[in-house]
Amino acid sequence: MIATLDLTDIPAEDEAFRAEVRAFLKQTIGHLEPDIRARSWMGFNADFSRSLAERGWLGLTLPTQYGGAGKGPFARFVLSEELLAAGAPVSAHWIADRQSGPLILKYGTEAQKQFYLPRISKAEAFFCIGMSEPNSGSDLASIKTRATRTDQGWTLNGSKIWTTNAQHSDYMIALVRTSGETADRYKGLSQIIVDLSLPGVTVRPINDMAGDAHFSEVFFEDVQCPVDALIGTEGDGWAQVNAELAFERSGPERLYSSMVLLESWLLHCRQTGADDARTAAALGTIVSWLAVLRSLSISLTAKLVRGESPAIEATLVKDLGTEIEQAIPRIIGDVLGSTPEAEIPASLRRTLVYLEQLAPSFSLRGGTREILRGIIARGLGLR
Ligand SMILES: Cc1cc2nc3c(=O)[nH]c(=O)nc-3n(C[C@H](O)[C@H](O)[C@H](O)COP(=O)(O)OP(=O)(O)OC[C@H]3O[C@@H](n4cnc5c(N)ncnc54)[C@H](O)[C@@H]3O)c2cc1C
Repeated sequence: MIATLDLTDIPAEDEAFRAEVRAFLKQTIGHLEPDIRARSWMGFNADFSRSLAERGWLGLTLPTQYGGAGKGPFARFVLSEELLAAGAPVSAHWIADRQSGPLILKYGTEAQKQFYLPRISKAEAFFCIGMSEPNSGSDLASIKTRATRTDQGWTLNGSKIWTTNAQHSDYMIALVRTSGETADRYKGLSQIIVDLSLPGVTVRPINDMAGDAHFSEVFFEDVQCPVDALIGTEGDGWAQVNAELAFERSGPERLYSSMVLLESWLLHCRQTGADDARTAAALGTIVSWLAVLRSLSISLTAKLVRGESPAIEATLVKDLGTEIEQAIPRIIGDVLGSTPEAEIPASLRRTLVYLEQLAPSFSLRGGTREILRGIIARGLGLR
């Protein structure tokens, strides 16, 4: 499978964009403590998202006719890489920018594109993804939430869970059953854009181990959605969702959740002049791992530029990427723990503790490790 990923460089004009993004991030979030920046994916800050939008950095790859910047996947790679490495609070716009926007561009009607895409690019419409339900996380084909066709549109009943940012979002793209029964599996599933301000929608935030509430339960009780809430083709929800998950799993997003900790630890090593073998080995392990995965991720981006759909390769990079994201807190924790008498800065300790608590979720969100490995095995013709 790796043979399909050619070694690629980021084009010079996209590399040049990096300096501009770095300067902006230094000015806007450079002063924040690392344990705050380490929340990046979880950091909801609508003002920050709007400041990106003002620079034309949201909807970067959406066409200009819909308010996007009309740039290519490499520009998005550079922007995403810088935002995540710096620990920018990307959560407010992340899902709309990365998944919902491209999904609407691919499957939406002209009216849907004209309505939603400019709002996404201006950070005026935040989205969440309603796939998981109680007892239907990995097994999405078994979802029960139902949209029933009426004269006026769709009546929605059911519930979703683990919905990132539902409590802050304007819209949910929900995977729902529009025909058939649960036993019919993927037949009869569709995607509906739900305006979360409609009567009958209840959102209940869930606290995680770190004390943050970044995802929610969402309940639908006779919610009346208009006819044009349907996105794409009725009954094609399964294929659409799989295409959407490929957007979610490609890109550098799955490598950098622990970068702020790495940066913070390196600063500490420099300040204390640490040059022992254990520190060198830990750093060597992390850097060599990251360098290879970054190369794979850039090669994936080149495939997107060529209009190819590297779904299986993206799944592989996500699986390996979440391994390094989870390993970094463990490796750094082991090095620091090997000299318990040595003082470490409070902010580094807080960042480490936060990431140790959060790390298990890296290989759950966007599809669990076991499910991804099943997809990879099928892609390789092994099952
Ligand atoms: C931080 C975070 C954010 C999330 N955000 C969202 C969101 O915005 N929207 C959304 O819809 N969902 C979201 N989720 C939910 C996430 O996608 C699900 O948790 C995930 O898909 C797993 O589903 P589950 O929790 O029901 O576990 P289950 O599906 O019950 O799985 C439990 C365990 O069994 C394994 N397993 C299950 N089936 C198989 C199989 N066939 N073969 C081998 N092993 C299997 C799984 O890999 C896992 O280890 C989020 C989750 C997290 C942690």
